Amino acid sequence: MYPTILRHPGPTPIPKKVELAMSQDMFSHRTEEFVNLYRDVTERVKPFFGTNQDILLLPSGGTAALEAAVVNTVAPGEEVVVITVGAFGDYFVSICEKYGLQVHKLEKKWGEACTKEDLEAFLKPLSNIKAVFATYNETSTGILNPIEQLAEVVHNHSDALFIVDGVSCIGGAPAEMDQWGIDILVTGSQKAMMLPPGLSLIALSERAWMIIEANRSSAYYLNLLSYREWAEKGMTPNTPAISLIMGLSAVCDLVDEEGGFAKTVERHELMKNMVRESMRALSIELLTSDEFASPTITAIRTPEGLDLAEYLGHLKKKYHLDFAGGLGNLQGKIFRFGHMGYCFPSDVLQAVSLMEAGLQDFSYRFEPGAGVNAAQNVFLSSLGK
Ligand SMILES: *Cc1c(COP(=O)(O)O)cnc(C)c1O
Repeated sequence: MYPTILRHPGPTPIPKKVELAMSQDMFSHRTEEFVNLYRDVTERVKPFFGTNQDILLLPSGGTAALEAAVVNTVAPGEEVVVITVGAFGDYFVSICEKYGLQVHKLEKKWGEACTKEDLEAFLKPLSNIKAVFATYNETSTGILNPIEQLAEVVHNHSDALFIVDGVSCIGGAPAEMDQWGIDILVTGSQKAMMLPPGLSLIALSERAWMIIEANRSSAYYLNLLSYREWAEKGMTPNTPAISLIMGLSAVCDLVDEEGGFAKTVERHELMKNMVRESMRALSIELLTSDEFASPTITAIRTPEGLDLAEYLGHLKKKYHLDFAGGLGNLQGKIFRFGHMGYCFPSDVLQAVSLMEAGLQDFSYRFEPGAGVNAAQNVFLSSLGK
């Protein structure tokens, strides 16, 4: 009976308007109706990426688009750098290794960002790097890497393409792909994009296309050249995720309703600040520094003296509040508070309030209401109160 309050870093809640849009009558993807829909959404979603390049839509999870970014641009045996600051950076390493690339791994401790100094020092002794891969938002730790600065370093110190996984932040974080010099930017539907899983979006620079043309990848389903060819006709090479594309159109409407994409980014920044201030008021530690804190997900250390699995299980069972736990070596040590996509300051107030209720149930010592009060203060001051 009670709805689950899904505060995960994906899948995330779906707006009613998006659900309704997705339940429209099905139609063929080889029709004028589809061409109109395709051209309209791929144009309207450009501000999410900060690009004038075409956005391609793949009927797949984010992973397939990451794989497409790898398999189309580089050939087995070539040298690449993969920046990893957590589980999803490691994921990119695995994809590259699977394709037989020679991977130079720039690894940072989980909870830290890769700074431009880190990358500069790492790239200097290397000379034959074809691509540098990075995660914009590391979902396992709540780190937003300084992608603009990293892009600058890549282009100043190499001829490599800069390929970025934006799966857990595009739609909630600022992105200026063209201006920053990102060559390939990828995202998926089920995180900050307010859609169910199953659609991924990818945009490529002119330089990336030149490399891809020369590379002539043997990929078939993930062949980006064939996506580009069909996109000229307003279509995709095979059957697209039509329902999700109808939903994406509604997502663009919602962002317009909010006042444009800059407002959507502002809301995410506000929610991040609300969560961080409320945890501080409860004397619960955060995993990351403010400087590199993600606007879409916050990693929170286990409150002292609590068994995390028990606490999260209790929140879910008694209050229907569902947080994500930690991954890898952070399991049991952190939990992750998702505040992306269809999430609002009111949802943050709700989750913090229920978190406090759970803390009381476990006799955790804190000042009841302190977290909610702190979050509310951040919210009200954003309204000029
Ligand atoms: C979720 C996620 C992925 C994987 O996306 P799927 O849709 O599960 O394939 C990749 N990278 C990051 C940063 C993610 O958060």
